[in-house]
Amino acid sequence: MAKKTKRSTSKKSTAKRSKKASKKVSKKTSKKTSKRTSKSSKKSKTTTVRKHAGGGRKAAAKKVSRKAVRKGGRGKARAGKLVYYFGKTRTEGDGTMKELIGGKGANLAEMTSIGLPVPPGFTITTDTCAKYNDSGCRLPHGMMNEVHKNIALLEKELGKKFGDDAKPLLVSVRSGAAVSMPGMMDTILNLGLTDESVEGLAEATGNRRFAYDAYRRLINMFGDVVMGVDHHHFEKAFETLKTKYRVQLDTDVPAEGLVELCEMYKDIYQKHVGSVFPQNPFKQLELAIEAVFKSWSADKAVSYRRIEGLFGLNGTAVNVQSMVYGNMGEDSGTGVAFTRNPSTGENKFFGEFLINAQGEDVVAGIRTPKPAEEMKKWNKKIYDQLMKIKTKLEKHYKDMQDIEFTIERGTLYMLQTRGGKRTGAASVKIACDMVKEKLITEKAAVLRIPAGDLTQLLLPSFDPKAKSVADVLTKGLPASPGAAAGTPVFSAEEAVERARNGDHVILVRKETSPEDVDGMHSARGILTSTGGMTSHAAVVARGWGKCCVAGAGDISIDADKGQFTIGQRTFGRDDTISIDGSTGEVILGEVSTIEPTLSGDFAKVMRWADKYRTMGVRTNADAPADAQRAREFGAEGIGLCRTEHMFFEGERILAMREMILAESLGQRETALAKLLPYQREDFIGIFRAMKGLPVTIRLLDPPLHEFLPHDAKAQQEIASALGVTLAKVQERVGQLHESNPMLGHRGCRLAVTYPEILKMQVRAIVEAAIECTAERIKTLPEIMIPLVGTRKELALLREATEEVIDQVKAEHDWKRRLDIKIGTMIEIPRAALTADEIAEVADFFSFGTNDLTQLTYGYSRDDINTFLPDYIAQEILPQDPFESLDQAGVGQLVRMGFDRGRSTKPGLKVGICGEHGGDPKSVHFCHKVGLDYVSCSPFRVPIARLAAAQAALMYG
Ligand code: ADP
Ligand code: MG
Ligand code: MG
Repeated sequence: MAKKTKRSTSKKSTAKRSKKASKKVSKKTSKKTSKRTSKSSKKSKTTTVRKHAGGGRKAAAKKVSRKAVRKGGRGKARAGKLVYYFGKTRTEGDGTMKELIGGKGANLAEMTSIGLPVPPGFTITTDTCAKYNDSGCRLPHGMMNEVHKNIALLEKELGKKFGDDAKPLLVSVRSGAAVSMPGMMDTILNLGLTDESVEGLAEATGNRRFAYDAYRRLINMFGDVVMGVDHHHFEKAFETLKTKYRVQLDTDVPAEGLVELCEMYKDIYQKHVGSVFPQNPFKQLELAIEAVFKSWSADKAVSYRRIEGLFGLNGTAVNVQSMVYGNMGEDSGTGVAFTRNPSTGENKFFGEFLINAQGEDVVAGIRTPKPAEEMKKWNKKIYDQLMKIKTKLEKHYKDMQDIEFTIERGTLYMLQTRGGKRTGAASVKIACDMVKEKLITEKAAVLRIPAGDLTQLLLPSFDPKAKSVADVLTKGLPASPGAAAGTPVFSAEEAVERARNGDHVILVRKETSPEDVDGMHSARGILTSTGGMTSHAAVVARGWGKCCVAGAGDISIDADKGQFTIGQRTFGRDDTISIDGSTGEVILGEVSTIEPTLSGDFAKVMRWADKYRTMGVRTNADAPADAQRAREFGAEGIGLCRTEHMFFEGERILAMREMILAESLGQRETALAKLLPYQREDFIGIFRAMKGLPVTIRLLDPPLHEFLPHDAKAQQEIASALGVTLAKVQERVGQLHESNPMLGHRGCRLAVTYPEILKMQVRAIVEAAIECTAERIKTLPEIMIPLVGTRKELALLREATEEVIDQVKAEHDWKRRLDIKIGTMIEIPRAALTADEIAEVADFFSFGTNDLTQLTYGYSRDDINTFLPDYIAQEILPQDPFESLDQAGVGQLVRMGFDRGRSTKPGLKVGICGEHGGDPKSVHFCHKVGLDYVSCSPFRVPIARLAAAQAALMYG
């Protein structure tokens, strides 16, 4: 098992949840697109899709093996084939081919083949996009040829003709990468309309107004999205026209007005583009396809991929699909839905729709959509059909789906489906419900919940008591659960800036758009005044597990003034607000929070996880309260109890400083004697809390100067308190100064120079163990000596430790057994390299992967942020190596240390106690190496349990 390094499968279940995004809102700024083309088009050739994310929205890494995918599917990928058709005539792709034809394309093909009503079309591959971007924006040879052939197929299937003056075929051009990405190019609808075919459409539909409405939308969308003409030029022209016709609403402009508007739009187009609006539908199509390819490298797409940690993707596919119309009257409409509630997971169809509207109107937040429930009243037949489709899709995909649909004159069409993005809580509930419904197995349920998303279930929520007396300002939609408090900020830039300074901010916006993702990410929570449960803000926040209240309509925002008003009251940057993403409440001030508990479905998933995992999970805890909490979360011991934190509280720090300032061994021992009772009490508390479970205690690690103040005032205080001169204190501070404290006099080096510190600590541990054992509390201390790089260090200190153990036992006349292990942290590369020697004198190893990472890379954890952002942006590093273990480099040392240690001592206990112990990907790695346990902070314990189970199921 330890040798198996390659992941061989891709789990649909752990795949990134797809995203739904509103796009229209972002149009005004969509011009800064291809600036970075050259930089980011140097994409890698690998087909690994790595997904990691910051702050708790991590999912397991995913490797899409293209070969496996292609072999397994019903569709056939053929070398050199650039275009895949889907329709009644034939369907060439299928749902497994996401890597090649994008998520949208793969699912359109899949839905077509399971018999759902999908308007036919075709998909141009992601490889084609890569070729285009690699060759300096030239369409690959033969591509337009294949496009022509596929259009011909479509024409035949539908009995319509592209650009026809009688029955014109119109298409939408939609982007769609392997992983769904909000911020990619806006979809273009009604493509294929020209001066000639618009008349054909009017004729064919008997609705001239509709035809010209479609045409003006095309010129606008095409001008804006493809050619970069600012949307507002079109908007202005529309305003002028409405004034002329003396109407307020777009929908009140008569047919001849729209004919006139199309002329105005074509003029605007010509003026800004420098050529006429293309009257050849194939020219339109070609330009639109190119624009999709280019959008792959647009700033907002690049930035999204960076935030989501998506690397190694090829490019985007392009879907060309025949149009259906939701705007043909009161019997038509369009909508979006989740097959279950994405916020809570409740098994209830959850959607919104608009009557007489086209595509994007639902998510654009211009008109307020109706909840799906009301569809029953509007058209019961369609509603029932949708419910059947919900069941069919869930049965087929065995997962909750996020769908788009359109009703054209009473006929339902499916336009999209994908795995629905959901909160951590929904993820857990849906998985548990689907097991009950026998849709999936327990194992599948364990595998599909992104372990990192459990963080959301472990977040504090507002204390109901505090909330009941709070000043609730208004209520919006409970778009993404959580409790967040902070000061309001009004732009993404401001959010980034303030968060960088350590402020807690709430991003308050009318609506968000893909350009805002950085700011949204930086904010504690997001509050919008328009937009529904499927708006951009809601969807993105849910995906990240970030608190969001959307559509709080009572709020009116004045971003320029930096304030918002609710009724008569105005709030600004001097205020603090709290938002409750589970109820939608917006509250003045900072409401206090309470800690979560592990119960219900969450507890059930944890039980399942424990059933399948083979690796232990411990916690890093320094205090009895943390230890207790971690136990409640399922920790099976303490993997790292740092002792230095115990020296800061109250009286202790003074004794510690006295020890450091001591001139002689005698003085030092006197000071240490003062610390002894504190230490003993600490250990007794922890042993009690962890009754029966092992506790790894690390002896003093940091350099001594960290315990002394560096400003004169505080130094004077110490001098007075200890009755020494200020000069003396300063002299000692000077002596302890080090150029590279990280590489300095610390860890076991302290114990070598000042063995009396080690002696005091070991004595405290042994005395505590004796006292607890006498009280019939089973105690299993493991004394861990830090920063060992040579066998000799550990041998020497082990001897000293054993001496103290024997001595204390003798003093207490303790004849019974005391189970105390002595081991070391492996955190210096040399220790990993010579682990076979070190293991001779160690009972256990624990990889301190924080320091091991620092020392392997030569990066300082504390200063890495000066260059890490550049390293990430330029893809030198795929991610922060302190967040997720660098398996290729540092991982080798872990593997080597493990193998060499075990070669000396087959039973050697080996664990990991760096921050990585709570990172799902790193947990998988530890499982593969064969470690006995991982240890992480209390709140990450459930994540590690689930990740360990997933690793066991995936890799055996
Ligand atoms: P997004 O990723 O923003 O959802 P889509 O490509 O799914 O982009 O399309 C945007 C909107 O246009 C959606 O509401 C979709 O349903 C609609 N749409 C796309 N293609 C068609 C089509 N062929 N006929 C009707 N509506 C369409
Ligand atoms: Mg869509
Ligand atoms: Mg260390």
